[in-house]
Amino acid sequence: MSGHAPSYYAATANRQDSRQTLSGVLNTDVCIIGAGFTGISAGLELAERGFSVIVLEAVRVGFGASGRNGGQIVNGYSRDLDVIAARYGATAGQLIGGMALEGGNIIRERVAKYNIDCNLVNGGLFAAFTQKQMCGLAHHRDVWASFGHHSLEMVDQAGLAAHVVTDEYVGGLIDHLGGHIHPLNLVQGEAAALESLGGQIFENSPVIDIDTGTHPVVKTAHGEVRAKYVLVCGNAYLGNLLPELATKIMPVSTQVLATEPLGDAAARLLPSNVCVEDCNYVLDYYRRSADNRILYGGGIVYGGADSAAIRAKIIPHMLKTFPSLKDARIDFAWSGNFALTLTRFPQVGKLSPKVYYSHGCSGHGVTTTHLLGRLLGEAVAGSPARFDVLAALPYYPFPGGKMFRVPLTALGAWYYGLRDRLGV
Ligand SMILES: Cc1cc2nc3c(=O)[nH]c(=O)nc-3n(C[C@H](O)[C@H](O)[C@H](O)COP(=O)(O)OP(=O)(O)OC[C@H]3O[C@@H](n4cnc5c(N)ncnc54)[C@H](O)[C@@H]3O)c2cc1C
Repeated sequence: MSGHAPSYYAATANRQDSRQTLSGVLNTDVCIIGAGFTGISAGLELAERGFSVIVLEAVRVGFGASGRNGGQIVNGYSRDLDVIAARYGATAGQLIGGMALEGGNIIRERVAKYNIDCNLVNGGLFAAFTQKQMCGLAHHRDVWASFGHHSLEMVDQAGLAAHVVTDEYVGGLIDHLGGHIHPLNLVQGEAAALESLGGQIFENSPVIDIDTGTHPVVKTAHGEVRAKYVLVCGNAYLGNLLPELATKIMPVSTQVLATEPLGDAAARLLPSNVCVEDCNYVLDYYRRSADNRILYGGGIVYGGADSAAIRAKIIPHMLKTFPSLKDARIDFAWSGNFALTLTRFPQVGKLSPKVYYSHGCSGHGVTTTHLLGRLLGEAVAGSPARFDVLAALPYYPFPGGKMFRVPLTALGAWYYGLRDRLGV
């Protein structure tokens, strides 16, 4: 599909046509910048509540991380609930912990309500290389149980064979409410749902300027939108449009490849069709596609640089897990950027009373972006209680400022990656 990364998803998307570019002056209740999960989720939430919505997308719906990710429905956040509660206090911790399954529920509700064809499969596995990681998973299960979430089940090494066939792991943790989807078809399906409710989406319409005042105006090269509210949902692809936001996150690139269709061989490697991510700091994540390819992701590059050698980087990881794939043809290899925060917890807030933002799911955003889209919608619709709790959380800047934050964070990742490799 033109305009998208050269991914398996773009090649197999349900919808291949593009939408019109913004021209002229339009008025709306809410203008949303960015047609990823966050922007489209917020737009759908608001359209369902009767608001008029215009979404401006620089490239195509799902062009960013949302249309090219691993497709893994990972519940919760990029930090565990006890860590979040310890950092932000019991009140915020209880609210955040209580919402940990909401994003996944929103996805499932929308897939059913709008009949979205995105190959939704239930079940996710966190795989452990060491007994120390198994202890971490057991702790994770217990923490989630203390928040009333009981979908997690420990699996020992023998039990693992029903889910993933490799010698790499000593055990794992199944999340029965995890799962996977074709992410581009999900975001495109949600976009179509938004349009069915009267929402307008313009593609190839990068926003070049925003007046964040009492009567916000959002400008593109050929038009402008005058809105009562603006939601900034550009995440790692926003660049320097709003420097205040650019300093809060770091774009990080991760890579995915797709094998050729493998027929029954794919099911022999992943018999229960769960998606898998391992417990390492720099983790591998993989799953079967609907047409029985293995989609294998991993690796990170700080600073948003695209990897020129995705195959060289990811194939050794894949073959370590699944040596039998040594002769498998690789049909697609692509990379994409997510937005990292120092705390790995997303940030929401207001740039002015009428301009809100949300970003920084830090690599686990398929579910959380859906939750945050709902919170943005609630805030605009006059029920800001949950949004306000998140917006009030303290913000921690990356150490090293603009010049040194990338090397310092990369150094941290290298250190934790080394610990993983040494098994300590
Ligand atoms: C390769 C990869 C694999 C991943 N795998 C997983 C996974 O398996 N599970 C998981 O939970 N998370 C995963 N993630 C993270 C997850 O995909 C993201 O957290 C999530 O999709 C972010 O959604 P978003 O809507 O906030 O941002 P994006 O999807 O990046 O959307 C932002 C949109 O804003 C647009 N935009 C930016 N600037 C402008 C502008 N000036 N004007 C108009 N539009 C603009 C961009 O073009 C883009 O389409 C992965 C990320 C990547 C990159």
